[in-house]
Amino acid sequence: MELFGRSTALPKLAAVLSVALAVALALAPPPAPAAGAAGAAAGAALAATPGSVVRWAGPGLVSCSMAGREWAPLDGACWYPLDLERTGSVELVRRSAGGVASRRVAIAAYPWPTQRLEVEERYVAPSAAELARIAREKERVGRLWSLATPRRFTLPLAAPLDSLPPASRFGARRIFNGEPRSPHSGADFAAAPGTLVRAAAAGRVVLAEEQFFAGRAVFLDHGDGLISMSFHLDTIAVAEGDEVARGQTLGTVGATGRVTGPHLHFALRWRGARVDPEILLGRGAPVEIR
Ligand SMILES: [Zn+2]
Repeated sequence: MELFGRSTALPKLAAVLSVALAVALALAPPPAPAAGAAGAAAGAALAATPGSVVRWAGPGLVSCSMAGREWAPLDGACWYPLDLERTGSVELVRRSAGGVASRRVAIAAYPWPTQRLEVEERYVAPSAAELARIAREKERVGRLWSLATPRRFTLPLAAPLDSLPPASRFGARRIFNGEPRSPHSGADFAAAPGTLVRAAAAGRVVLAEEQFFAGRAVFLDHGDGLISMSFHLDTIAVAEGDEVARGQTLGTVGATGRVTGPHLHFALRWRGARVDPEILLGRGAPVEIR
């Protein structure tokens, strides 16, 4: 009896659900129209991982834009850096001789692992004086993300070490001495102390100083919103304001700042977005829109 009762209830439930679904579909807003004739034939939904770069090549490109910011194409393509902590979806737009086209890209689930590290306690519970120092350094660094100077780099970027080992830890969610901290926004390259660190492209030294977390650090502005960072150096061979050539020595690998051992932490911000350096070093692939 009980079984019979359930089996008759199920079709009723299915009918109720299908009506609810039909109502929901009727109430849902229509899909957003593409921004122009060329975008009308948008293909299947695209997804990209946070910290990746989307590349959209095409003939006669004039400009590229995303989230209210516009820039010039590079090597016949629009490049869209997606920040490590971006979520939701983003609309990518490009203008060409043929008109305006747009694509919506869904940001995939955060794919990076969690990493537990043990460091000196002062890097987890800094003193009041250290907190004030950290705030000043954060403020100085934060100003760099909005620099807008002409592009001086080509892709792929030059390797920051003559012999570049596999990168590790990009994106890892990190727990220091049991305390969660922001995700790892660069790539770590194992190298012996004293190994030369080189400029990934021509640029200007916009910061070169010893910082609390980054240790001895060099920040280069390569134009088009691209900033490269080399952290934990033993020595710094350049000064703020210097113009450097691609491949020029910036300093040497060390173990200064919040580290567990000597290595180069190499990171990139492109138009404010923290992206996987491997992609712009030509060792990882961008997400392609076809
Ligand atoms: Zn690192």
